[in-house]
Amino acid sequence: MKKLCLRSPAKLNLALDVLAKRSDGYHELKTVFERIDLCDRITLWPRADGLVKVICSHPQVPKGPANLAAKAAMLLKQDLNLAQGLNIHIEKKIPVAAGLAGGSSNAATVLLGLNRLWKLRLSQKQLRDYAGRLGSDVTFFIYDVSYAVGEGRGEKIRPLPIPTKLWHLLVTPRVKMLTKDVFGRLNLDLTNKMDSVNILLPYLRKSVPSAIGPKLANGLEPAILSLRPDFARLKKKMSDAGACGVCFSGSGPSVFALARSKQHAGQMKARLDRRFAQVKIVSTL
Ligand code: ATP
Repeated sequence: MKKLCLRSPAKLNLALDVLAKRSDGYHELKTVFERIDLCDRITLWPRADGLVKVICSHPQVPKGPANLAAKAAMLLKQDLNLAQGLNIHIEKKIPVAAGLAGGSSNAATVLLGLNRLWKLRLSQKQLRDYAGRLGSDVTFFIYDVSYAVGEGRGEKIRPLPIPTKLWHLLVTPRVKMLTKDVFGRLNLDLTNKMDSVNILLPYLRKSVPSAIGPKLANGLEPAILSLRPDFARLKKKMSDAGACGVCFSGSGPSVFALARSKQHAGQMKARLDRRFAQVKIVSTL
């Protein structure tokens, strides 16, 4: 039986501006995505009964039709009128509901994988359109790039040809934080004057972590901190450990510290309190 094994990477938001609330209820965003080497493993193989099934041992990941990977397969099946069945095994390494877009990445990986497994010959444009129908962050992962600017809901992607490789210490507190609650706390009067994406880009191109660090910014930070004021202490601890800059990813709660090098990331990891269970060294993919 033919099996396809794929890696499904996470993302960080190096800069995130919330520009406006739209009439459809979503927010107009501008962000810089970075693809990182923290990856789930996805295995796809056919099943004879025509159904789509998810196998995943992570307690927070839905196994039924709500799983974004299953949604991606069902979208292709329904839209293209396909009879094939599919097993999707997900080995979760990316913390769930953590601002790292693990579910969105899984959906994109299934779209890309099924294009090969089912020999669909979909163009990149068609894959992007399917991705956009599945969720705001899915489209970025259709592109094989390390960095991109995302606009609209995050689905309008402009790849950035930047060779910079960054190292980070990624901390994901074990708390539940819903994206909708964070956006619900947002005060747009305070955030809509930000242009942190355009401020960051020239520094990112120059590849100097100590210059990039102070330009990392997330317009959702005031909303995240209003829900969890204690995260300010976590950020300070990471700064005190020697980070070039510290920033939340997406709607949190993941926080990343920018390091000067892999070795520097290791030194910061050693200095950080053992209370933070999910601490990982990650780099640009
Ligand atoms: P978002 O900001 O879109 O909520 P996130 O990056 O913070 O995304 P994800 O790991 O993508 O977080 O999980 C968001 C939600 O999606 C979780 O509540 C989870 O139950 C659900 N989900 C559905 N499918 C998946 C999947 N394949 N992997 C992880 N979570 C999934």
